[in-house]
Amino acid sequence: MKIYHNAKWWIKGRIDPEIIAVGVKDGKIVELFNKLPQGSHRSIDLGGRFVFPGFIDTHTHSFEGGLYSMMIDLSPAQSISDVLELIHEYSRSKGKYIFAWNFDESSIKEKRFPTRQELDKVLQDKNLVLRRIDGHSCIVNSFALKNIRESGKLLDSRDEVLRGYDNDLAVHWFHKSLDQDIIIEAYHTASRIALQGGFTGIHTMIGDADMSITHYELIRDRLSDFAVRYHIYPQSFDIDAALDAGATRVGGCILADGSIGSKTAALSFNYLNSDSSGSLYQTDDFWKAFITRAHQNNLQVGVHCIGDRAIKQINDVYLALERADSRDLRHQIIHCEITPDSLLDEIAESKAATVMQPAFDRLWGGTDGFYASMLGKDKTFEMNRFASLLKRGVKVTGSSDWYITELDIVKSLQSLLIHTNPDERISLKDAVSIYTENAAWLSHDEGRLGKIEKGFIADFSVLESLPSVEISDTKKQVKAIIRDGEMVHDAL
Ligand SMILES: [Zn+2]
Ligand SMILES: [Zn+2]
Repeated sequence: MKIYHNAKWWIKGRIDPEIIAVGVKDGKIVELFNKLPQGSHRSIDLGGRFVFPGFIDTHTHSFEGGLYSMMIDLSPAQSISDVLELIHEYSRSKGKYIFAWNFDESSIKEKRFPTRQELDKVLQDKNLVLRRIDGHSCIVNSFALKNIRESGKLLDSRDEVLRGYDNDLAVHWFHKSLDQDIIIEAYHTASRIALQGGFTGIHTMIGDADMSITHYELIRDRLSDFAVRYHIYPQSFDIDAALDAGATRVGGCILADGSIGSKTAALSFNYLNSDSSGSLYQTDDFWKAFITRAHQNNLQVGVHCIGDRAIKQINDVYLALERADSRDLRHQIIHCEITPDSLLDEIAESKAATVMQPAFDRLWGGTDGFYASMLGKDKTFEMNRFASLLKRGVKVTGSSDWYITELDIVKSLQSLLIHTNPDERISLKDAVSIYTENAAWLSHDEGRLGKIEKGFIADFSVLESLPSVEISDTKKQVKAIIRDGEMVHDAL
């Protein structure tokens, strides 16, 4: 038995002052001690830190996040010339495929995307895809455009900035052009970033969100190679492929609607100063057929829904299935950003789980934030309703949607404590449980993950202090990650 000691242990929703050490054997918790046991045990001193059940982020795009982290991050850019400079600097590195991400024209002086001509000036002989921060639009250089067209795919947009179908086409072409070594390296990079961010486990999507599960099997067969515990989703509409691959779930960011930033999230009202209310990407019949078939094959379904019209469209199908053929599959409403009260009640009734992003409120919430500028101030009170959902008994889980926001457990918990709408703030106890117990429940692992309890897997996240509204340098808070009883990240 190995003993982890000199630590404060988070047990049943609080630091338990009685417990001073935990014994681990064969990757499992075998004993909680209130005094140090005698005998020759290997003991590991955790330096008086706070130990939580391993935190789990329930929705990431780890392939993209890992891959992009190996490439150009445009978030520091403040002008078009900064963007071009960053691309130019990177362009000397080897590799024919270059991806620039985290582009946000609202933080660029010129308030626009670079033009294709500007991109061509810094990169003529390699493929470049430059993607907006929300992933819903991108622009490519002429070299990439030519190669995409030669691959037999057609970009039909006349606009240089690619949206909707063309955006997907360009990005999927890029992903599919990469070789196997880079794909695997991307998952290792993501794994390291997850550990540094405080997570022992992350859910991740693999597939093109259309009809292909891409490299799902490649990663499925290598899960034990990664330091982080991956929970993988075949992210496609191909139910047969998911079943053939032995998956127990299907979906992820398969889209019921788009994004607020691109005005494609489906609303029951119009965008501010606009006659558009966004759009549903598929018909009711399409979703009914897809979700019902997955349900009948005992697959858990996850669908990206941001606007209230999209959430209702998907939840209506979950609700009908819950009434007619209840199977405890724990279908997911991913994002679940805009929810008037009536919709909250309907979600509670369908027994769907919500997979939500606390950082979205931190970045875009409040009556003078980005949401308010797109939807109007009053609508911000109907968004990211953590407290209201928990109050109704909905199983809320937390995630970063990384690469969209950072993989950072301390910031994620903090975002819940400082929600811009005081009515939607939750306690630290609830915040921790959405990243531990509820997350474990989402993958049907509530009997083995998410708690520091005898018999549970010894996955621990060790933090410097208790998450609070005051902590500013969150990255320094993660001191160690222990998975299956082994130290996989050590910053003690
Ligand atoms: Zn997503
Ligand atoms: Zn999504």
